[in-house]
This record gives sequence, structure tokens and C-alpha cells, in this order.
Amino acid sequence: MEAGVAARDRTAVVIVAAGRGTRAGDGLPKQWRDLAGVPVLARSVAAFRGFARVIVVLHPEDMAPGLSLFQGRVVLVAGGATRDESVRNALETLDGSGLTHVLIHDGARPLVSDRVIDGVLAALDGAPGAAPALAVTDSLWRGENARVLGTHPRDGLFRAQTPQGFDLSAILAAHRSHPGGATDDVAVAQAAGLDVAITEGEEENIKITWPEDFIRAERLLGKDGARMDIRLGNGYDVHAFCEGDHVMLCGVRVPHDRGLLGHSDADVGMHALTDAIYGALAEGDIGRHFPPSDPQWKGAASEIFLAHAAELLRAKGYRLSNADVTLICERPKIGPHAVAMAAELARILGVAPDRVSVKATTSERLGFTGREEGIASIATVALVSA
Ligand code: MG
Repeated sequence: MEAGVAARDRTAVVIVAAGRGTRAGDGLPKQWRDLAGVPVLARSVAAFRGFARVIVVLHPEDMAPGLSLFQGRVVLVAGGATRDESVRNALETLDGSGLTHVLIHDGARPLVSDRVIDGVLAALDGAPGAAPALAVTDSLWRGENARVLGTHPRDGLFRAQTPQGFDLSAILAAHRSHPGGATDDVAVAQAAGLDVAITEGEEENIKITWPEDFIRAERLLGKDGARMDIRLGNGYDVHAFCEGDHVMLCGVRVPHDRGLLGHSDADVGMHALTDAIYGALAEGDIGRHFPPSDPQWKGAASEIFLAHAAELLRAKGYRLSNADVTLICERPKIGPHAVAMAAELARILGVAPDRVSVKATTSERLGFTGREEGIASIATVALVSA
């Protein structure tokens, strides 16, 4: 499905999430709420892989959480007072980009499938606009005060979904000349006389609006085994002993007659765990995200690294199922601190303590750990697509 005019590498995606709607309950706008452990908006973004550019339009007050969630992997644009204005702000940033097409998607539709997206891209071969929809199959009534006043023919009626795809310059021109007040971009395209093809939508491509929509969406995620993706990662780290009176291990300060040598706080257990998460995500290692050549990480608390990896796994649509960390040393004794260490790691990761294990072993006085020259650590994590 990649050969068409609107190939992913020439197409931008605009994800509109500037609303402050709290109808879905919980006080937080729905796109920021967790759906099976991952923010709705992160799921909506994760559905669009391989596109030339992904722009997320946020309420101006949401720019800081947006930066923290996406860490520069998408372009953030501040929305306007209305939906039209928000979309137009994003489209204006694409003027002169050389891209040919754009898909405009509602940030509250996190379950959009490759099939729906590919259908829109394919239809853009034959029309300047294309959008998914479902034919109305239920009977339609007019009513008032819980009484039926009459029926309405359903022939030729469709329920519109997103992403709505367009020739980029055509939809930009249409937005520039539109007076405002459109409920979606097909309405803007129609006002400009653009031909819009109807492609196949899916019942599962729901727009989360009400509290019960979260329950329905979680059920849809749960029953669809094909969406489940399990990723394992491992990490290994070593730090040498040096002069000192304590070591930092898994976020716990343990008194000792030596310290650990390192650029940061030399928390060997936390480093192994952080690398295991980066490894599961195929995102390199700590050194790539926090270069040791950068003086700002000198003496840094390793919590920064682990918290970053935890944010990244959530932003990429995963949740941590479990983590297992082994510390390898003769001394200090780890056992008395193991529960506190697991609890601290769980706190930073934002998971229940029973999902994190910290244990220790000696190397029977063999090798560098046996000679008490340093401490080694290995860690394993399992991430599950959420
Ligand atoms: Mg290290």
C-alpha cells in the first residue's frame, strides 16, 4: 500500500489535541488520560509510523507536558481558539516543506488501524481528499423529551471518522479561505469545492468522548491479540570501587568503606536497568541519551536516566510488565536493602512494587567482583504494548 501518490515519506500527519474537553471525566482533558496505562494521545501518535513529519497541535497550556511526553520526536504547535484555527496553525508550518499530502487526525481516536490509514492514502491517488466513514445502519429518529417525533431516512448517510487526508496545498488554501466554524476538515474541503473520496472506516476507530468510551476502548485493546507486542531488554554495567564511605545502589544510599567511581552517581544497578529499557525499545543506551562528555550529567542522580527511559517507554506505547535487577558483589551486603531498592525503582518507574525485583549474588570470590575491585549488575525488563 506504499506505492501510491501519498506515500508516507511525502505525507505529514497533523494530530489535533488542543481541546480542553473534560466530558470524559477525571478532570484531565481526555487526550492526556491513560488508556490501559498509556496516554490516549501517545497511542494516537504511535499509530502513525513512518510518516515524513508528525505535528501535534496542543492547547498552549499543554506545551510543557507535550515536550515531556514526546521528547522532540514530534513537532508541537500551539492550537488556536477553534478547531479550524488549530489545524490551520499546523498546516501553515508545512507551507514550503516540499511534502505533498497531509493526514489530519483527531487525537482522541487512539485505536485507528493501519488498514484505515492505508485506505485513506490509497484513495488520495484518485482525489484531492479522502476520509474514512461508516454507513449509518441504525434507524434514525427525530425526538424531543424522550418521545419519538418522526423518522429520518438513513440512505446516503455516513458517520465521519479520521484521519482525513488531503493534497497539502489544496487543504491549506481551503483553510485560508474558510470563514471558520467547520466541525471537521472535510467540511473545509467541501466549502472550497474539493472532491473527497469516502474510504472504509472501522467501528473500532472510536472517538473517546465519554467515560464509558475508555472502558470500551480498553476492552477493544484487550481482545485484539494482534496489537499485543512484547519486548525484552537486557542491561549490564560495572563500576569500580574508589575512596568513599557509601555506594548508591538502585537509588538507595548504602554505607560502605568504599565508594563507586563514575561520571554520575555510579548507581550500577540503576544503569543496568535503564539500559535494559532502552534496549527493549531499540533506543541505544544511557550514553546515547546522556553523553558522558556533557558536563551537565557530572555527579547526576541516576534517577534522571531511569525516569527518562520510563517516559520514553510510555510515549512509545508500552508499559513495563516487570523488571529484574541482579547486583554482583561480595560486599556490601544487599539483602537488608533489597526491598527498599525495589520500592525506589518502582516509584521512579511508576509501577507497583511487585513488578520490580532486586536481588544479589556474590561471585564466590572469583574475578573482579570476587576481588572486591568493583560491583557489576545485570537487568532484564519485559515491556508490553499497552
Ligand atoms: Mg554505569
